Amino acid sequence: MSTVDCPDVLTALARGLELDAALERHRASCADCAMHSVGIGAVARAIAALPAVSPPPDIDERVLRAAASLLADNARAAAPLLAGHARVATLDGRSLVRALVPAVLLFPLLVVADVWLLRMLHQTLAAILPGALTTWLVLSYAALLAALGCFVFGAIPLLVERQAPLLGWKEEHVGP
Ligand SMILES: [Zn+2]
Repeated sequence: MSTVDCPDVLTALARGLELDAALERHRASCADCAMHSVGIGAVARAIAALPAVSPPPDIDERVLRAAASLLADNARAAAPLLAGHARVATLDGRSLVRALVPAVLLFPLLVVADVWLLRMLHQTLAAILPGALTTWLVLSYAALLAALGCFVFGAIPLLVERQAPLLGWKEEHVGP
């Protein structure tokens, strides 16, 4: 079922088009359309006969001048967001040192714990497996631990860089 409204009928009349059956049925049953459709064709023809108006040559400048204060307000409002984006790209040396110091201090503890773990593993496996197999398994495990250590310590600068904007936001909105 097609829905026909007053604007459909009045637009067709204003454009000088023939009304189809649905539009004609609406006009016949609608008091608003009956009232407005009387003069709408003549009004549309009168408007079409008016001389064409060309915009003033300096309209671009005038619109920009009128909008200048609004644009400046928007730029001021966006400045903190842009500053936050700028911080993402820079790696703050102080934050990096603050993140690396505990990691470096804990490193010897990590090494001692790993060596102890490897010795226990070697003793346990040596009791049930041939010596060469035990050594190979323990060395493989040591290599895995070393790789994980490199991965974790190598990720610290990346994590600091990622976290810098969040810390900046926290200091501004929550406090240090
Ligand atoms: Zn109508």
